[in-house]
Amino acid sequence: MTTPDLAGLPVAWSADCLRHEPAGEVWLGVWDAGTEVPERATVLLGALTEAGAEVTDARPHDPGALLAVHTTGLVSHLATIWTRWEAAGYVSEHQRSRVVPYIFPTAGLLAGMTPRFPEAVHAQAGGFCYDTMTLIGPGSWEAIRAAADAALTAADLVLAGARAAYALCRPPGHHAGPASHGGSCYLNNAAIAAQALREAGAERVAVLDIDAHHGNGTQAIFYDRSDVYYGSVHVDPGAGWFPHYLGFAAERGTGPGEGANRNLPLAPGTGDDGWLDAVAALCADVRARGADVVVVSLGVDAAEADPESPLRVSADGYRRAGELIGALGPVVAVQEGGYDLPSLGGLVVATLSGLLNR
Ligand SMILES: [Zn+2]
Repeated sequence: MTTPDLAGLPVAWSADCLRHEPAGEVWLGVWDAGTEVPERATVLLGALTEAGAEVTDARPHDPGALLAVHTTGLVSHLATIWTRWEAAGYVSEHQRSRVVPYIFPTAGLLAGMTPRFPEAVHAQAGGFCYDTMTLIGPGSWEAIRAAADAALTAADLVLAGARAAYALCRPPGHHAGPASHGGSCYLNNAAIAAQALREAGAERVAVLDIDAHHGNGTQAIFYDRSDVYYGSVHVDPGAGWFPHYLGFAAERGTGPGEGANRNLPLAPGTGDDGWLDAVAALCADVRARGADVVVVSLGVDAAEADPESPLRVSADGYRRAGELIGALGPVVAVQEGGYDLPSLGGLVVATLSGLLNR
């Protein structure tokens, strides 16, 4: 393995990404410490700086870039729910220190009827958040917004001629759909970047998702479109892994998007060989379809040491995946998952050095 050298690689970053402190997650009814912690970003920033990358401030972008892939309802909910939660006394009177949904308007509850938007603030959260693990607190919105701005800034840099740019996004985004959020994700940073690239003139964009989990949100956003390909390699949701209900090979897109969605679920325990075969298959798809630019949803939670998945990819595997993806053309890399703090920085640096073929 060559010495990682990221000299000249732009890293879009905002310190506001540290302001999101979900204070854990409610999983199976118990409030756990959670793994999507601010330290993830500081560890990454340190490793990237040490490898010679050039950190640049994420620039604020027009909210229109968010609304190009998300509903106004979701964006305004995320922007205001904490303030309204606090003002309604859930923290001071009821000791509810974070926004946690408790009722969900599932298809079963509604039974085909049209729901009324609830007046009660505590009932609104479940209308947008589809799990109990994706909490909102003070500073969450500023971080959510900053992560999207980082992705948009990285896209701008590639549009301006950079061969690759990396967005240090936190919180991650690929589980956030057009009108929903969950899986520790709020706004879909990679989809926002992909759509911005389309609107700036890229005719075909490919999103390659190498996070250990299926990016159900990105799939949902582009499912009926042919201009944005979505390909994902991830642990088999049928083997008991998030997002459980989606992420299977039979999901190939719909209407004009038929064939532009590809899922390659892998058995728990899969290591470099099987995982890299899947990454190569997705790259072959992108080459066959043509893409002016690739957005990579760069999750490193498929690594062996990661607590959030049973895949066993090595740092060298990540570097080789970077090489495969970097050979496709210009790349906007967007940080998704990756939760093992001791190895996180090395994994991302390895992927990005592969991307730059160093
Ligand atoms: Zn993940």
